[in-house]
Amino acid sequence: IKFNNEDIVTLKQLGSGNSGSVSKILHIPTQKTMAKKIIQIESKTIIQNQIIRELKILHECQSPYIIEFYGAFINTNNTVVICMEYCNCGSLDKILPFCEYHRFPLNVLKKLSFSILSGLTYLYDTHKIIHRDIKPSNVLMTHKGEFKLCDFGVSRELTNSLAMADTFVGTSVYMSPERIQGLTYGIKSDIWSMGLMIIELASGQHVWRNNEEDEEGTINGNGGHNGSFKRDNGPEGILDLLQRIVNEQPPTLTEKIQPITRIPYDPTLCAFIDLCLVKDDTKRRTPFELLKDSAGFLNGVQDGSYDKEIKTWAKGIRKQLKELHQEH
Ligand code: ATP
Ligand code: MG
Repeated sequence: IKFNNEDIVTLKQLGSGNSGSVSKILHIPTQKTMAKKIIQIESKTIIQNQIIRELKILHECQSPYIIEFYGAFINTNNTVVICMEYCNCGSLDKILPFCEYHRFPLNVLKKLSFSILSGLTYLYDTHKIIHRDIKPSNVLMTHKGEFKLCDFGVSRELTNSLAMADTFVGTSVYMSPERIQGLTYGIKSDIWSMGLMIIELASGQHVWRNNEEDEEGTINGNGGHNGSFKRDNGPEGILDLLQRIVNEQPPTLTEKIQPITRIPYDPTLCAFIDLCLVKDDTKRRTPFELLKDSAGFLNGVQDGSYDKEIKTWAKGIRKQLKELHQEH
């Protein structure tokens, strides 16, 4: 599909991150609802044709676990516009506040882990792409309870190209120890990020809290925290946190109890997280290996055992989101 500004009607703002903003649009010629991401780029640093060529690779990514890419164009004011599949429940960080007890149900965690692992395996095996930015705001959900990855490859690199100029913006709490240390990192770094994310979604609490954050570490629903450091995080706080990720024992849910319900976490969930958060990346599993052996955590997901229940749950979330948006 060919895209230009004249064919697009903006329906509503969906959110913004470090270097861009996302809105829900209607593409008039196709009558398709889409998500449009606008990324500000530095004119000098990037050759436009090269961007377009690389964006075309995204066209070839076709998987139920990956957000579909429809097309892109560059505006004269140095913005890249990316048009992609719209997910009507938004990203996991926005969904979390609507979950009971502020935590994702166990079977949903299973399905989303399976989907992320499948998406990562697809990207790597078929296109040699490593995601590099797994975090709650980059995993989207549909009302059918499907989970899809977004913001990988060029779209991720563009997102961070401006941010990188500002030393610590673009650094995130989901980064693996090997990446923080500047050692080689690869597909297993995404597994670390996923493990950390799952802990947060299972407990409703931030794993790595920095000094300035709220007392309890409870993830509040304002969509304020997306794991990226912002300009107003002091450099001392960030360095301290990065050092902790490298030096401390990896986070775990084993032997912890859930807040409010006071029940221990599911043992297979704990075992799965421990497999993801192995500090030494040579001993950490790849997405493919985890799909094959997840310490029992993913049993039953592949054959769709939880699909019906998750679909009902997702519909409930969608309903709450709709009600919220009508109020404003
Ligand atoms: P960062 O800039 O650090 O990556 P981010 O991921 O929150 O942070 P964006 O990628 O700009 O920032 O996305 C902003 C928000 O838009 C996301 O948090 C998500 O809720 C929403 N969003 C992004 N893509 C889509 C999509 N395809 N469908 C529906 N909502 C989307
Ligand atoms: Mg994003």
